[in-house]
Amino acid sequence: MGRRLLGVSGEKPKGFMTLGHDSIIAESLSKLRHHGITSVYIGTGYQQSYYECLAQQFLDVQCIYNEAFATTGSMATLRLLQDYIKSDFLLLESDIIYERRALRRIIDAPFNDAILTSDVTSYGDEVFVSSSQNGLLVGMSKNADAIENPDSIFVGISKLSIKTLNCMFDFFDAKQNPALNYEDAMIGVSKKCAINVCNAGSLHWCEIDTPEHLNIARQSVYPAIRRNDDYPLVTRNILLNPGPATTTDTVKYAQVIPDICPREIEFGYILQEVSERITDLVANTEEYVSVLFGGSGTAVIESILSSVIGPNDHLCIVNNGNYGVRMHEIAQIYQLSVVEYVSDPYRAVDVKQLVNFISGSQKNVTHLAVVHHETTTGVLNNLDDISKLCARRNIVLIVDAISSFGAIPINMQQQCIHYLAATANKNLQGIPGVSFVIAARTMLESTKEITPRNLYLNLYNQYNYQETNSQTRFTPPVQAIYALRQALIETNCEGIEARYTRYANCWSVLIDGLKRLRLELLVPIEFQSKLLTTIKEPSHSDYNFKEMHDFLIRQGFTIYPGSLSGCNTFRIANIGAIVPDDIKRFITALTTYFLYKGIIA
Ligand SMILES: *Cc1c(COP(=O)(O)O)cnc(C)c1O
Repeated sequence: MGRRLLGVSGEKPKGFMTLGHDSIIAESLSKLRHHGITSVYIGTGYQQSYYECLAQQFLDVQCIYNEAFATTGSMATLRLLQDYIKSDFLLLESDIIYERRALRRIIDAPFNDAILTSDVTSYGDEVFVSSSQNGLLVGMSKNADAIENPDSIFVGISKLSIKTLNCMFDFFDAKQNPALNYEDAMIGVSKKCAINVCNAGSLHWCEIDTPEHLNIARQSVYPAIRRNDDYPLVTRNILLNPGPATTTDTVKYAQVIPDICPREIEFGYILQEVSERITDLVANTEEYVSVLFGGSGTAVIESILSSVIGPNDHLCIVNNGNYGVRMHEIAQIYQLSVVEYVSDPYRAVDVKQLVNFISGSQKNVTHLAVVHHETTTGVLNNLDDISKLCARRNIVLIVDAISSFGAIPINMQQQCIHYLAATANKNLQGIPGVSFVIAARTMLESTKEITPRNLYLNLYNQYNYQETNSQTRFTPPVQAIYALRQALIETNCEGIEARYTRYANCWSVLIDGLKRLRLELLVPIEFQSKLLTTIKEPSHSDYNFKEMHDFLIRQGFTIYPGSLSGCNTFRIANIGAIVPDDIKRFITALTTYFLYKGIIA
């Protein structure tokens, strides 16, 4: 009820006090969202309609009303959430303001149960915390003298496991005191359930219970939070090359982390989280697994091809572009038994002809490798038809999905894909340096017996090490993995289908603009991915790709040369953290160049 604030907060609940643009509860929700936490339950009481209105603005925020709010403590409200909380969760107060990194700190803490604390301050009304020598919670009280050696103060943000929550409920039920607060229940169960004290040191935060707190918050704490949360904007370049793509500033800044040894368990959890988030985009996390490598996309293609083809296996590589050619080169270097199916680069693979080719092959084809989206041209191959062919013939399907992953929905199980290669820096909108294989576990396990042809890139060994140690075998690109985590959170918030829609809208603007400039496309529309477009160069004598490129780059747009021999083309990709308006501005810049050179009148 916030009685002590009634004079200044009006009729509103405390969470609706405003220090910046938004109420403090809305700012808190947005910070949670930034860290990928979208499912939120708010235990309400006094003036609950405020919270209910707020919840309507979010997809996954729900209010649970405690009608006895005036006479009960926070444990009674938490008890009402029992049926809703299904997994380990964060517990936050509605009346606190805090730096964004506070959440990062407690989410990343390598414990299932933890409370966040900070250095002792003296703004009044603090909850003092004392911890044991090994960092476990021992006591909590508003009275520093009531506990032994108080060493930090409680921030009002906790991370709890279901197991500990249930112990707290048992404790609450046994006590039969409706006024019990959750801090008391934590202390009550702390002997049985280890709750870690996670001291964030000099964190800027405060709880607002009194007009004095509100004053301090306004004068100093909130401005300090904003100074640390609002990073300076980074110059935004629009990369229209097919990856690395334009990233958000939040992804860029996710790389700035305290130095950490990647063999620490805290990093192990990040690795696990990233791996599961990747798998989750295309498969279930029980039967499929993501194996991470430091390296570009080609590294994981090479890893799969060199690791999973046994001595008696026979590989067929579909080639309708340069990335198919590259796979064939890899297969030859490793002296695999391989046959190449060459298909028209201007159109999707003709699956009927591919069936005939495989049927007519002298050796029994056991594995087939195909590029989903041929970045050479922008042709999208029909994965559904190819996967049906493989499923019927029991062929292991390997897919280079490097330039489709994260934009075009893929379901590995339904599409019978056994190995899929992708990277952080294309449609996932992450930073280059890390790439990954997503594999069916049983299939991967069956490659254990194949004599390794390589060390660093061996897929089974990398998988086995990652699974048993929660580490990569060799030094991973630590910061790129943190950025990838943020990129995955943002991918998840947007949704793959919505991302593809955004990209397709960018593409439509591009195609319209190119038409107005009378530029011709290399690939018929029906075979295009809508992620990358290959454009025939104008035949005008004053046209010069390098000059056009340099003109555009000065305006913040990076374009890409063509790579198909025998025809003069350039390429425009429309992936990354871009919107249709960016493409509109690009078309304007391109039009200016064409007018200036007299290519169009
Ligand atoms: C980008 C890409 C790759 C990998 O390229 P790297 O430069 O090694 O990251 C492989 N296949 C396809 C289809 C690609 O688009």
